[in-house]
Amino acid sequence: MTVKEIFDSMDYGPAPESAAEAMAWIAARGGIAGNYVGGKWGPLREDMVLSNPATGERLAGLTRSTPDEVNVAVAAARKAQPSWAKLTGHQRARYLYAIARLVQKHSRLLAVIETLDNGKPIRESRDIDVPLVARHFYYHAGMAQLMGSELPDREALGVCGQIIPWNFPLLMLSWKIAPAIAMGNTVVLKPAEYTSLSAMVFAEICSEAGLPPGVVNFVTGEGSTGAALVASEVDKIAFTGSTEVGRIIRRATAGSGKSLTLELGGKSPYIVFDDADIDSAIEGLVDAIWFNQGQVCCAGSRLIVQESIADRFHTKLKARMATLRMGDPLDKSIDIGAIVDPVQLETITRMVAEGGKDGEVYHAPCKLPDQGSYYPPTLITGLDPAARLMQEEIFGPVLVSTTFRTPAEAVELANNTRYGLAASVWSENINLALDVAPKLAAGVVWVNGTNMFDAAAGFGGVRESGFGREGGWEGLLAYTRPVRKARALKPIAPFPAPASATGPDLDRTAKLFIGGKQARPDGGYSRAVWAKSGKLLGHAGIANRKDVRNAVEAARAASGWARATAHLRAQILFYIGENLSARADEFAARIDAMMGGRHGAREVAASIDRLFTYAAWADKYDGAAKPVPLRGTALAMNEPVGVIGAFCPDEAPLLGLVSLMAPAIAMGNRVVLAASHPFPLAATDFYQVLETSDVPAGVVNILTGPHDDFAKALAGHLDVDAIWSQSGADLSAMIEAESAGNLKRTWVNNGLARDWFGAESEGREFLQHATEVKTTWIPFGE
Ligand code: NDP
Repeated sequence: MTVKEIFDSMDYGPAPESAAEAMAWIAARGGIAGNYVGGKWGPLREDMVLSNPATGERLAGLTRSTPDEVNVAVAAARKAQPSWAKLTGHQRARYLYAIARLVQKHSRLLAVIETLDNGKPIRESRDIDVPLVARHFYYHAGMAQLMGSELPDREALGVCGQIIPWNFPLLMLSWKIAPAIAMGNTVVLKPAEYTSLSAMVFAEICSEAGLPPGVVNFVTGEGSTGAALVASEVDKIAFTGSTEVGRIIRRATAGSGKSLTLELGGKSPYIVFDDADIDSAIEGLVDAIWFNQGQVCCAGSRLIVQESIADRFHTKLKARMATLRMGDPLDKSIDIGAIVDPVQLETITRMVAEGGKDGEVYHAPCKLPDQGSYYPPTLITGLDPAARLMQEEIFGPVLVSTTFRTPAEAVELANNTRYGLAASVWSENINLALDVAPKLAAGVVWVNGTNMFDAAAGFGGVRESGFGREGGWEGLLAYTRPVRKARALKPIAPFPAPASATGPDLDRTAKLFIGGKQARPDGGYSRAVWAKSGKLLGHAGIANRKDVRNAVEAARAASGWARATAHLRAQILFYIGENLSARADEFAARIDAMMGGRHGAREVAASIDRLFTYAAWADKYDGAAKPVPLRGTALAMNEPVGVIGAFCPDEAPLLGLVSLMAPAIAMGNRVVLAASHPFPLAATDFYQVLETSDVPAGVVNILTGPHDDFAKALAGHLDVDAIWSQSGADLSAMIEAESAGNLKRTWVNNGLARDWFGAESEGREFLQHATEVKTTWIPFGE
């Protein structure tokens, strides 16, 4: 092309980045990607082939690790973990810092390898992925440094198994590895089968940084390798990928005691109000859905635009789509690169061909390269909100669009999905945007922006987008646990009926407490509660599935509690404490009678104290304004989880119930509590305290009966958002398995006891489980 021709056409010239250095790097390592274990390479076998999605050409061979090879890697991580955790935070910080520096030093190689392997534009891998990787290690070098002083009550989990997808191979690797090793864990990470090469460069960086062998290990392979890692002797699994595989992993780890965090799919809404800066919103949309060819878990893939501007918006959007440049991802002036693999291309093509028939499909008239896996930017309008393409993640450069009239309708449409990862809100009226943001079911909300990420700001979802946060202080929770001595829980059975019974008249059957009213158990059954002495103390109802359904429905209906002010919630908790105090002697006597001891008074006093603790916390467990690199802020706000089902302990039937109820309702949740089965009568007396304390109907619901009888129904209920179990019954495995249906959060005791009177049974750990951190990004300026 001559200079004159360039001036005439004003077209972009070719600006390719060279692949020569990266290809030489691969060749110098025998052209095979494989395991890095204990600081050494191997095994390296060509079991599979890695190819360049932009050309279809072979890049390297790939080792498919066997379960035995995975176990060898886990053993290496296990061996390295104690001494790694014993280093000072400062010593670990120096390694993370060295890794950050080396990522910057090798940034060009990393960016080119990432683009060759994944097909993403070099502009993105060079300017977004790699700088964010370095940032993550710098940030977490700081977290390692501060761990001793800021997190004195927390310790490393041990060995973490980490499984990542192919869309951001290096970035996901850093999100997983940096916090884990900063906190003293060691890791075994499995990259995705399509994209294992940048992990190999990173392994060399670990060696170059002098990281002790075994702290970071890689096993390559496919889904079966991931499954072997899940089944191995790790202490935690951190997974990013599809909701289907997330569900499989939830079931596979149920009852194993392994911690789990899941970062899954999304169908994130992109809401545009009629007063938005339309040109900015369109440019934002380019980033939202065409960044990384739309292969982004938090892609703004569902446009929800106000009806009054919809036509104009779509017209402008189509014009912009037509100018997007597709082609060789190594070309620096390319906007859209290749789809990661022909299999993925085929999925996108099929989904659009099948689901697009019910709407209008617009493919941008972009010139597609002759070879490689490419799909044009696509807009689909006119679909019903329930249509498959409006609900399912397409994971490609395909935007679906619908319209709304009022802000309330926008919120309703936005939340009409099983996912809850991210959302964008566009409006020049900041009051409107900040009114809508908290109403969106999403872990991350971007106001007048999209796809903003930073190590200081938590990222992660709610609902079927998974649980756990990555980034920020909140991200460290997933890689640490409270320091506590493990003691096995001793099961407690109800006192048996004596040979000859004595007691009150048999009418004294305590009912269930549902929706603010005492309710007869649906099945009509109850059981006699005997004192150790053989005295009949009363009867307690036996709840069944129907009672569970009613209690959950009542809790769901009490959604106003989440919007009550923290001040009001605090007042009510103080009031419950005061009312319990007024009846302290009666409760103490009841506990003594049920349990056959003289600890009742102490337990009641501790319960009143605990109610005051959470009354205090209700308006003090505050969020944070994150120092993100942006003219603006990212607000981390603690939101209630929703409806929490909680199985209460037996060792302290009143204090245990209060210890679970109070943090939950202090944070705005509604609860369905399963009272202690052997000692239910303190809970049933407690209704009256709730009734006289202005607790709105449905906020606290209490069921009695054997936990095993209705645990499945509560743990599997799709309208329950979290399940806690401190039950004396062995429920952990069943609860975790049942929770997979809607991927509700779980917090189970794994058969370990707690000291309900001690400091370990109140405070931040409980509040963390009672909240979800929502990160709302708010840029400032004209
Ligand atoms: P997967 O969820 O299958 O893969 C994610 C990771 O899990 C990969 O490393 C994969 O290995 C591994 N894996 C697969 N099966 C298992 C298993 N049974 N046990 C343990 N690990 C396993 O996503 P895909 O890559 O197959 O993509 C499928 C769809 O998932 C996409 O179309 C997209 O909709 C969604 N997706 C969502 C992502 C997100 O960030 N939310 C990211 C990627 C995909 P391997 O790749 O080697 O098979």
